[in-house]
Amino acid sequence: MSTPVNLSAAAAVPSYLDGAWCTPSGASHPVVNPADGTTLAAVTHATAADVDRAARAAHNAFLDWREVPVVERVQPLYRYKALLEKHLREVAEILTRENGKVYEDAATEVKRGVQMVEVACGMPSLMMGDSLSEVARGIDCETLRQPIGVCAGITPFNFPAMVPMWMFPFAIAAGNTFLLKPSERVPMTPTRCIELLYDAGLPENVLQLVHGGREVVEALIAHPLIKAISFVGSSPIARLVYTQAAAAGKRVQALGGAKNHLVVMPDADLPKTVDAILSSAFGAAGQRCLAGSVLVPVGEVAEPLLALLVERAAALQMGNGLTSGVTLGPVVSHDQQQRVLRYIDSGIQAGASLLLDGRPEHATQALPPSGAFVGPTIFDHVAPDAAIAREEIFGPVLSVLRATDLDHAIRIVNASEFGNTTTIYTQSGKAAREYQQRVEVGMVGVNMAVAAPMAFFPFAGWKRSFFGDLHAHGKDAVYFYTEQKVLMTRWF
Ligand code: NAD
Repeated sequence: MSTPVNLSAAAAVPSYLDGAWCTPSGASHPVVNPADGTTLAAVTHATAADVDRAARAAHNAFLDWREVPVVERVQPLYRYKALLEKHLREVAEILTRENGKVYEDAATEVKRGVQMVEVACGMPSLMMGDSLSEVARGIDCETLRQPIGVCAGITPFNFPAMVPMWMFPFAIAAGNTFLLKPSERVPMTPTRCIELLYDAGLPENVLQLVHGGREVVEALIAHPLIKAISFVGSSPIARLVYTQAAAAGKRVQALGGAKNHLVVMPDADLPKTVDAILSSAFGAAGQRCLAGSVLVPVGEVAEPLLALLVERAAALQMGNGLTSGVTLGPVVSHDQQQRVLRYIDSGIQAGASLLLDGRPEHATQALPPSGAFVGPTIFDHVAPDAAIAREEIFGPVLSVLRATDLDHAIRIVNASEFGNTTTIYTQSGKAAREYQQRVEVGMVGVNMAVAAPMAFFPFAGWKRSFFGDLHAHGKDAVYFYTEQKVLMTRWF
């Protein structure tokens, strides 16, 4: 059944629709390597008619798949884990080529995806209900969890392997069938991942891969056979998908963008803190929803912290993420590069002090020609109302807002309209605990580089970083992809 996907230059990236790898009926778009501007492949977008065909096929597949015992449903996932591990280098290299992140980051992403598969393999235990006998005289009560039907996932460009795996392993292990619409900017990685899933023996149409953009998303939201939508992307689109899908009567979880604060107390371990900030702010070229993008030094730590940070950031090695020794790859596209450069200009115009200038014309390193590079950029004395202090830039740009004390730092963090993650750097348990308790943010780290919850915990953004009730992965995913039923029994 599985057709080898030829991911060499200029190859066509197929969709998997209605039991076959195929080219859907929409327009074709190039997939570009952001490190050098070369075209890697072409992807053809699906249309609303393709989505309709896929949704009907998924519904038919669901009628059989939900009858397969859960212990059998997870067997392809066990084999999938092994296949992903076997092909880790290949998948990570594809990911670096189309997304730009450095190979080590890409490999870590794939491993994080594998952990999602591992947790979903525990579905026989995770789906268990509760029971209590004699809730009344001669009456027993139990709950059970059943799959909800055809589910759809819409994913962003920045984690093309892992974010789809926040969704489909849990959904299909729970007995649902799934339509995945990955980011049209990075279609090759999810295609290879889904091909491996079918190599692992997944029955036909339990998962379909529908490439495309807005038209596909709108068709998924409107389709009556689709019962639940999982979305990850920017906040404006997350909000749109949440409101439209909820209005269409669907269960929705929509994870949005972020502006994450890193608070450094005067007693922080400076070298270790700088290591963590470099990784948080500039890892994956700042294109993580958990990237630290606002640095809040408290009191007198600002001067020594910024001196060391600027020195270390300037030494990051930029280039193609497949070249060994490179620690900072390009941003995802030339459009994204221009967007980040506009934010840097806006910071300068707003009067912030540019401590480190990442604009390509100021680069001190030789960069591959035609790449979408932006160097590490640090602004000090940023006004709290400046765009670079408030808006998600999604690039290697760090804005510094100085605080006088912990209370001031917490006020800065809580003024943000986003609430995805934050980290405090301190050696004081008292300060850390106060911070954890008072910040209005869903994922809080202490002395962490990136406080990314593992697969068995939820990915718990707050405020404009999340629209919905049940979050991605962990037990929330089990609850999201199942419907609960309560049984009461009396025998005469
Ligand atoms: P995006 O919002 O542009 O796109 C996400 C998905 O939505 C893609 O599949 C895209 O095709 C689709 N889409 C885009 N415009 C649409 C429209 N008008 N109507 C319907 N669908 C549309 O996001 P992106 O640039 O691919 O990804 C980066 C964003 O994702 C950042 O904001 C980042 O913070 C966020 N993100 C959030 C999390 C999280 O867990 N909260 C994780 C990863 C990424």
